[in-house]
Amino acid sequence: MTAAALMVHDPGPSDPSSVRVLRPRRAAPSDAVRPTRAEVNLGHLRHNLRVIERALQRSQGASANVWAVLKADAYGHGAPAVARTLERAGVAGLCVALLEEGVELRAAGITAPILVMSGYYGLRRDGYEALLENDLVPVVHDAAQIERLAAFAASDEGRLAVHLKVDTGMGRLGAPPSELDAVFDVLAASPSIRVDGLMTHFACADSPDLGVTRAQLRRFFAIEERARAMGHAPSVRHAANSAAMLRLPEARLDVVRPGIALFGVAPMEGSREDMGLDAELRPVMRVRTEIMALRPIAAGERIGYGHTWEASRPSVIATVPMGYADGLSRALSNRGHALVRGKRAPIAGTVSMDLTMLDVTDIQGARAGDEVVFLGSQEGPLGRGSIGATEIAELTGTIPWEVLTSVSRRVPRFYREP
Ligand SMILES: *Cc1c(COP(=O)(O)O)cnc(C)c1O
Repeated sequence: MTAAALMVHDPGPSDPSSVRVLRPRRAAPSDAVRPTRAEVNLGHLRHNLRVIERALQRSQGASANVWAVLKADAYGHGAPAVARTLERAGVAGLCVALLEEGVELRAAGITAPILVMSGYYGLRRDGYEALLENDLVPVVHDAAQIERLAAFAASDEGRLAVHLKVDTGMGRLGAPPSELDAVFDVLAASPSIRVDGLMTHFACADSPDLGVTRAQLRRFFAIEERARAMGHAPSVRHAANSAAMLRLPEARLDVVRPGIALFGVAPMEGSREDMGLDAELRPVMRVRTEIMALRPIAAGERIGYGHTWEASRPSVIATVPMGYADGLSRALSNRGHALVRGKRAPIAGTVSMDLTMLDVTDIQGARAGDEVVFLGSQEGPLGRGSIGATEIAELTGTIPWEVLTSVSRRVPRFYREP
């Protein structure tokens, strides 16, 4: 589910403590009537974890642990199934953005450590209690927030383990340099809070020049030194997203936080050779549907909303049941492709909400019921092709992260073991 679709209920009097999570009903495979679906290859997911772990072992000294980033419903792949697969494959921990996402994983029976990265637990006690009840590790980044959590923990005579996030140059979340004194002061006055982890996040780990990332890492080490001088002993230091993990071994620290790489997508353009190991990554998601109707079109005829496509020759148009409400970007109108019988067919006309047309004039033998692949690879009588999230992102002016998280909840996820 998407973050925006999650809502926290106001707990009623009969349920004083727990954060309840309202889940939008996601299309389930058993409800699927339409042939449009996202296939999630769990074997590829495990493979990508092994590729990453092997790369980490090649680095000097003790190798970093992997805490997989499963925010936004595991980048659209379905967080419970992805978490279960990674947990069985031995992943050390998981990271989510929202408290609600952490609660969802616990409800699904996940027992691995879970870090809640967004730092938002609400202003009331129920957020704190949801952390405790679900054994979730909160990220803290702000003096007032630490004070609030410390007061809740103190009234319980408990001790809350947290990860402290510091801003070393991203300028988004994390205690900024100007606030560090205040944060350390509050921590010194809060024996109910224990800083188990220290973390930061890189702004430019996927850009060709790693200078900014190296500077952020130096700042991080300076802050770590300060924290230790103040008597804190964070045993879990982490900074690296997929790009930093792949490209900058000294940023791996104790734990790495890969997201996109686990789902088989290289975190930067043209980086497959650049980074060596990510050439081995395998895309986990494949989005497919089927041709539902075919029609001949005479030269000069136009199709679709706005009549933006005109047949330059006698053509065959296939209509497929997938549109922008399923996550197929409207920016692919007259630009994108799909695979049919192993060959690329151009999108013809504007992508509409539920339907899209393809020019299959050059797809010999195309018939209703033929498989159509918008994301992923296909083998057929006419060849073998593949369309990656990066290619779609380049066509639509975005990044592969957005392509994956855009596949909407109307598209059922089918889990495959190869
Ligand atoms: C999303 C996110 C990650 C993972 O990033 P990828 O580029 O997908 O590997 C790591 N850390 C934080 C704080 C994040 O928000």
